[in-house]
Amino acid sequence: MLIIDCEKCSGCGLCESSCAFGAISVQGECAVVNEACTLCGACVENCPEQALRIELAEKRLQADADQYAGVMVFIEYRHGQIAPVSYELLGIGRKLADKRGVLLSAILPGGCVTPHADSLIAAGADVALLVEHPMLEQFREDIYAAILEQVIRERKPEVVLAGATAIGRSVIPYVATAIDAGLTADCTRLEIRDEDGMLLQTRPAFGGNIMATIECPHTRPQMATVRPKVMAPAIPDPTRTGEVIQVEMDPQFLRSQVEVLETVINTEDQVNIQEVEALVAGGRGLDSAKGFELIRELAGELGGAVAASRAAVDSGWIPYPHQVGQTGKTVSPKIYIACGISGAVQHAVGMQSAEIVVAINRDKNAPIFDIATYGVVGDLYEAVPLLIKRLREIKK
Ligand SMILES: Cc1cc2nc3c(=O)[nH]c(=O)nc-3n(C[C@H](O)[C@H](O)[C@H](O)COP(=O)(O)OP(=O)(O)OC[C@H]3O[C@@H](n4cnc5c(N)ncnc54)[C@H](O)[C@@H]3O)c2cc1C
Repeated sequence: MLIIDCEKCSGCGLCESSCAFGAISVQGECAVVNEACTLCGACVENCPEQALRIELAEKRLQADADQYAGVMVFIEYRHGQIAPVSYELLGIGRKLADKRGVLLSAILPGGCVTPHADSLIAAGADVALLVEHPMLEQFREDIYAAILEQVIRERKPEVVLAGATAIGRSVIPYVATAIDAGLTADCTRLEIRDEDGMLLQTRPAFGGNIMATIECPHTRPQMATVRPKVMAPAIPDPTRTGEVIQVEMDPQFLRSQVEVLETVINTEDQVNIQEVEALVAGGRGLDSAKGFELIRELAGELGGAVAASRAAVDSGWIPYPHQVGQTGKTVSPKIYIACGISGAVQHAVGMQSAEIVVAINRDKNAPIFDIATYGVVGDLYEAVPLLIKRLREIKK
């Protein structure tokens, strides 16, 4: 808060003129602050009498923090299957739990999820928490959030992880707000600090130009979302054993303000670029939507799929589900062929974990060559047909 020392204040009014928010005024012989103050500090710097100072309340670790233990993963269940990202979260969750010497639990809400409990245990969970109800058949963020909130309040995990997917991104901020916990979105690395067991959450910041490591020192649980394909999935071990708990929910938490009228599966863009082994990506260098015909042809020869840079998507040449990068998808195929893509950092963060990167670009200084395993400096309209021809010859 802003502290005003009226013994020192001369009532000169310099604070008043330096405040951009109209939050301080001189009344009588002393300055008075109102609720518009943002603690920006401009008045403090401008006060010639040093009559103003800001005191920040010392934040402390929440009182019952020592009651929080364990790592909990929110498992996503769609169209009768567990989403692949959930196994990736169990993989990293297992490592964090082992480092802390605590249990890893997996919470799975859904219509009929009991048959999936064993796969969660096999993937590393010590405890599978199943919340089954017909109302949970369809994803509704208000009900899912209420359930997660209740389970977190009751079981007090120290760390909660969820996928940075459409579902995770809509429900987890809701939960974090309800329980007043910190949340770091889109983490690319998670680790436990040796000295104090704090969860270190690393994610790209400032347009992907730096990696920021974030910690939540004052509140529990520490919550993070992780993008699909960033963490390695746990290798399933069917011999693992664990506890399966059917969680009973008070019916009041199963009331929704959302009515699902219809669920429509997108039949146009069926290919999930995160789940194929070969990707051929096109960028602005294609020059037109027609250029993607060539890209499709090469992808077809490799049995792969088509990806794109944001420039190609923004130009309307290909729909958004194909976009790779910071605001698109993160992919890690065996081979990624980038055609006419410069390799901007926001694109690179989405594809640099591919096993082999082949770059085709006519600018030999394009940054994509810094991450490429193999590079072709030249016109893609010459190089790609040659590649297709060679692949066909090999197949013959
Ligand atoms: C907050 C933010 C988020 C972003 N998120 C993403 C994201 O998710 N994904 C993403 O891709 N971008 C993203 N971007 C945009 C990113 O910064 C770049 O602008 C974009 O990746 C450039 O796309 P490009 O490489 O296709 O185009 P350009 O940078 O214009 O590169 C085109 C390349 O094609 C080459 N070329 C031209 N013609 C030919 C030819 N005939 N043969 C061979 N090579 C040729 C050129 O030499 C050039 O290197 C984001 C930007 C911001 C600010």
